[in-house]
Amino acid sequence: MSGDIRHDWTRGEVRALFQLPFNDLIFRAQSLHRTYFDAREVQISTLLSIKTGGCPEDCAYCPQSARYDAGVKAEKLMALNAVLDEARAAKAAGASRFCMGAAWREPKDRDVEAVCAMVEGVKSLGLETCATLGMLSHDQAQKLKRAGLDYYNHNLDTSPEFYGGIITTRTYQERLDTLAEVRAAGIAVCCGGIVGMGESQDDRAGLIATLAALDPHPESVPINALVRVAGTPLGEAAMIEPLDFVRTIAVARIAMPKSVVRLSAGREEMSDETQALCFLSGANSIFYGPKLLTTPNPVADHDRALMARLGLKPMPV
Ligand code: SF4
Repeated sequence: MSGDIRHDWTRGEVRALFQLPFNDLIFRAQSLHRTYFDAREVQISTLLSIKTGGCPEDCAYCPQSARYDAGVKAEKLMALNAVLDEARAAKAAGASRFCMGAAWREPKDRDVEAVCAMVEGVKSLGLETCATLGMLSHDQAQKLKRAGLDYYNHNLDTSPEFYGGIITTRTYQERLDTLAEVRAAGIAVCCGGIVGMGESQDDRAGLIATLAALDPHPESVPINALVRVAGTPLGEAAMIEPLDFVRTIAVARIAMPKSVVRLSAGREEMSDETQALCFLSGANSIFYGPKLLTTPNPVADHDRALMARLGLKPMPV
C-alpha cells in the first residue's frame, strides 16, 4: 500500500496511464479509491466569490480578468456579515467546507486582515475554511494560518509548457512558490488544474506529474473542465470530450491516491452519466451551490438527487 504514494511519477508513466484501455484505467482508479476512501462518500464544498471581477491578471479562461469584456462587473470585497450569512446558508445546505475566492493578483496586507476576520467567523460556525486570493507572501500565509485557515487553493492550471499560452502575467514558478509558502505555514493545499483549454494529452500528463511531484501531495485536487465564457480568449474553445475528462480524473486518482479529487468547474455542462463515471473514477468532492465564482453550477437540488440515485452521501467533516 505504501508504494501507492509516489512523488517520482515521470511524465511518461503518467502518459501511459492516460493510454490504458478505459476499463483497465477505471478499474485501477476505483480499486485505489476504495483503498483510501469510503467510495460512497463525497465531500461537499461551497464556493463564494468575496471579491468579484477587475483582476489585473490575464488568465485566458477567466471572465474576472479586467482585460476581457465578459460582462462581469468589478465589485469591492464583501462585508464580513454578508459573508457569514452566506456561510450559514451553505452549512444549512449540507456543505462542510466554505471556500472564499477573491479576484486578486495578490492580496494587499489590509485585504489579508479582512479575510482573516472572515476565516475566524466562518470557522466559528463549525465549517472548514478555504481561501483563494492569488499569490501569497510568507507573512500573509502565516497570518491566514493563525486566523485558522484550513485550506488554500492555488491551481497550477496546466503543464509547465502549455502554461505560457494561457497566462503571461505570472510564472509557473511563482505559483509553485505560493504553494510552498502555504505548505510551510501548515495550511492544507488545494491545487489542481483545468482541462479543455486546447492542451494535449501530454500536457494533461504534465499537469498531473507536476501535482504528484509535490511532497506531500495536495490534500485536495480540483480538476476543472473549462467553462467557455464569451468574451474571454477561450470563449470559443472546443468542448473537452467527456471520456477524456473522466480519464483525467482517473489518472489524478491513481497518481495521488490519498488526495480528495474534486469534480470542479464545468459540471453544469456535464451529463449525469459523465459525472457518475467521474465518481467511479475516484472523484470524491464537488462544489454545491448555484454559482462557481461567476459561472453557473448545477443547483443543489439536482446534485442531491444525483447523489441519492448513485447511493452517495456527504463526507462528514
Ligand atoms: S483566474 Fe484568478 S488570477 Fe486569473 S484572472 Fe481570474 S481572478 Fe484573476
